[in-house]
Amino acid sequence: MNLHEYQGKEMLAGFGVAIQRGIVAKTATEAVAAAKQLTETTGTDWHVIKAQIHAGGRGKGGGVKLAKNLSELETLADQIIGMQLITPQTPPEGKKVNQVLIAEDVYYPGASEPSEYYMSVLLNRASGKNMIMYSTEGGMDIEAVAEATPHLIFTEEVDPALGLLPFQARKIAFNLGLSGAAFKDMTKFVSALYKAYMGSDASLFEINPVLKTSDDKIIAVDAKVTLDDNGLFRHKELEALRDLSEENSVEVEAREVGLNYVDLDGNVGCMVNGAGLAMATMDLIKQAGGDPANFLDVGGTADAARVETAFRLILKDPEVKAILINIFGGIVRCDRVAQGIVDAYKNLGDAIQVPIIVRLQGTNADIAKELIDNSGLNVLSATAFQEAADKVQEAIT
Ligand code: GDP
Ligand code: MN
Repeated sequence: MNLHEYQGKEMLAGFGVAIQRGIVAKTATEAVAAAKQLTETTGTDWHVIKAQIHAGGRGKGGGVKLAKNLSELETLADQIIGMQLITPQTPPEGKKVNQVLIAEDVYYPGASEPSEYYMSVLLNRASGKNMIMYSTEGGMDIEAVAEATPHLIFTEEVDPALGLLPFQARKIAFNLGLSGAAFKDMTKFVSALYKAYMGSDASLFEINPVLKTSDDKIIAVDAKVTLDDNGLFRHKELEALRDLSEENSVEVEAREVGLNYVDLDGNVGCMVNGAGLAMATMDLIKQAGGDPANFLDVGGTADAARVETAFRLILKDPEVKAILINIFGGIVRCDRVAQGIVDAYKNLGDAIQVPIIVRLQGTNADIAKELIDNSGLNVLSATAFQEAADKVQEAIT
């Protein structure tokens, strides 16, 4: 689950991470009120207006603007709220901006130039450790830095059992070329950031830029936060921050009925029980020359109601040219599943216009095959994996 920048920053602040302060607004009027309120604590009249969408590269796309007074702020907020923001990370048609973050300007002039750094925290699956990646080349284009000058990106591995050790925080501040107050502030920043990462069960933090202000403070100016869905049950307050308008509507619906569904780009819908079998089925579809339209694990109880719901979800995708049902009947009996498929098919009537290939293996598979074959419906049964693949191929070519 992804958080918006303003939600991520709020969460980070709760763990003691220094952030660029801001208030979220849904209208230009709210934006002006937010700016006034901020000025009372920050003392500056300059603010940035930042589009809140689940995509980066907003600055490049015109979704981050600086306003030097309230009338500029109102005009810019009015422009950005409601706009269709296109960035390198959005779909081609862009994403609608429903709210903006009004934030204090932190690039004010002072004793030194402000400097932008890059920092992320993530899991290194290869080593089984957490990892802090950081670079002096922060700002907007870390991908280009990684491509052209990968030696400018440092990594620090953190043993999850030990946590971030003080010498590691100092090494990071040192490698970023800091000294004096900024050095000390950076060690605090990194330590708090790592605590937040662990404490929120996050799978990714990306803070770009981390800013050294002209008076040597270290703060998070941006925050991309991805939380581990499997840890959300421990963080009800974070789970409540989910923005459904940012998510795939079919995936949202599936989650509500307890189905494990991931939308994909292909043309063959899959309905499978068990994540491992689902993965294998997707490979099978690829081998047969198709492309999976989704990942769908119906779980242990593939009864008629569940099968019908799964059908309905798969059929919402207009790209689907065939549906492959691949179910192993262990605890759930194959004849029950077959009856479920036949019932669901009849209930859905005209909604199903594409061929369905069913492979049921396990308990009572033979009775299940008979049920399917005698149903008189446009459902092809297969017993072997390869047979199923061949039938899928026939169906889509
Ligand atoms: P992103 O483009 O989606 O990554 O959004 P960011 O939050 O990183 O903001 C993009 C850029 O806006 C930053 O790299 C800064 O250069 C600029 N920016 C952000 N906050 C301020 C600010 O307070 N003042 C000024 N002048 N620029 C800012
Ligand atoms: Mn950024």
